[in-house]
Amino acid sequence: MSGAATPTSPNQRLTHLRRLQRRLAACRACQDAGLLARANPIAGDQGLRQLMLLGQAPGRHSDAAGVPFAGPSGRQIERWLRQAGFAEGALRRDVYLTSVTRCDPGKSRAGAGDRPPGRDEQALCAHWWRAELALLRPAVLLLCGRLALAQFYPPRPLEALVGTWRREGDTWLLPLPHPSGVSRWLNDPGHRALVDRALAQLAEWRVALALDRERGEAASGDADG
Ligand code: SF4
Repeated sequence: MSGAATPTSPNQRLTHLRRLQRRLAACRACQDAGLLARANPIAGDQGLRQLMLLGQAPGRHSDAAGVPFAGPSGRQIERWLRQAGFAEGALRRDVYLTSVTRCDPGKSRAGAGDRPPGRDEQALCAHWWRAELALLRPAVLLLCGRLALAQFYPPRPLEALVGTWRREGDTWLLPLPHPSGVSRWLNDPGHRALVDRALAQLAEWRVALALDRERGEAASGDADG
């Protein structure tokens, strides 16, 4: 994106997004730097959306399927979206799914859950999701988990952030926990109440900001032009 004119129309933005997704799919930066044994960026095939979600990193299900949030985390987000009043299938239709890094970091050494991507991986990958954010200019950005939250907030406990929201530029930031089934944070009823509060706000925005109305799809035929 650097040095290029900022795209303005939906057609232009979608064309730039498709180019970005193709370049991302070919990225091997972490493999070349010796940080990953095998790079396999999960770029997805997604268009412009009003609602964007920033997660941590793809897991093994996404690595195998080639689509973001293909495993249990995706199903949890779909349940959250349904709670906020979105129709079935909203995960793939109404949300642009991205993450702090885009290749599966593999399992943690302790064997419980996925390894969080390291600082070097985060630094190498940040330009991808930042470019997506700049192109989409979403009305709402869901920040799922500590790593996503750390991109926008100073270090704070999850319970101090979930259930709050703030505006950054034209975008509302809405903190949520990581949707992974291994997160024990969600076992606490008080924490689940914070998630309910966040999803009630998302439900308000869904209506007020038309988050479940797709944008830019009419331009998809021009995307690769
Ligand atoms: S994690 Fe990001 S920067 Fe690293 S190889 Fe994958 S796409 Fe490239």
